[in-house]
Amino acid sequence: MIFDFHTHNFRKTLPETVIALENTADSFLCLGDVFAFGADPSAEEIHKINDDVLEYTSCDSSHRFAACFINPCNSVDSCIGEMRFRVLKQGFKAIKFEVNLPCSDPAMTPLMREIARLKVPVVHHCWRKSADRCPGESFPEDVVVLAKRNPDVNIVMAHISSCGYLGVAQIAPLKNVYTDTSGGVPEGSILEYALALLGPERILYGSDVPCRSAASQLGRVLGTVKSRRARELILYKNAERLLGL
Ligand SMILES: [Zn+2]
Repeated sequence: MIFDFHTHNFRKTLPETVIALENTADSFLCLGDVFAFGADPSAEEIHKINDDVLEYTSCDSSHRFAACFINPCNSVDSCIGEMRFRVLKQGFKAIKFEVNLPCSDPAMTPLMREIARLKVPVVHHCWRKSADRCPGESFPEDVVVLAKRNPDVNIVMAHISSCGYLGVAQIAPLKNVYTDTSGGVPEGSILEYALALLGPERILYGSDVPCRSAASQLGRVLGTVKSRRARELILYKNAERLLGL
């Protein structure tokens, strides 16, 4: 059983994405076409992106699961309304934040309070880079601030390879922070490091398809994690537990 926790339904590459997921995963979480309207989507554009996720996932709702994309730079009322509608009325299983606002910004607080009430996890983009950054992009230290302010919300810091060894070490003391196996080159040593620091309970298999090759990302996990228990946790049990499946 394989659950891919980090996938996107980018329109331009959707046929290739569908094939890649058929070949590598039994079930997946779809995080949306997050750049469909550029780097700062309006509330209406967010609504369209989430409509697309619903259409893409509802045709096989026992294997395809939806995350609600939110731009925290939009009004608090619009963000909360969108999250309530998607989670309570349509069964979306997680909230996705991208590169719109560093997640240590206090503007995240009212949204995170609502997410705690909705009892769903957050999947947050995170990347340590020194060039070509979006102004609203989050570093691991931003995720640390978010997690300390909101200990009752489970947060997945996306992109283990791009957060780096330092990022893994920074989240290690925070039991409500997980990471996924996507981002950058799919080399195994950082996964071994995360296994030692976080344990397999806080690592989720995620490919970030179509941004990355799902086959190579899955190969990293299969080629690195030898324990059957750890493999099962990373490949699907943690995902099922976090999403309440
Ligand atoms: Zn992604």
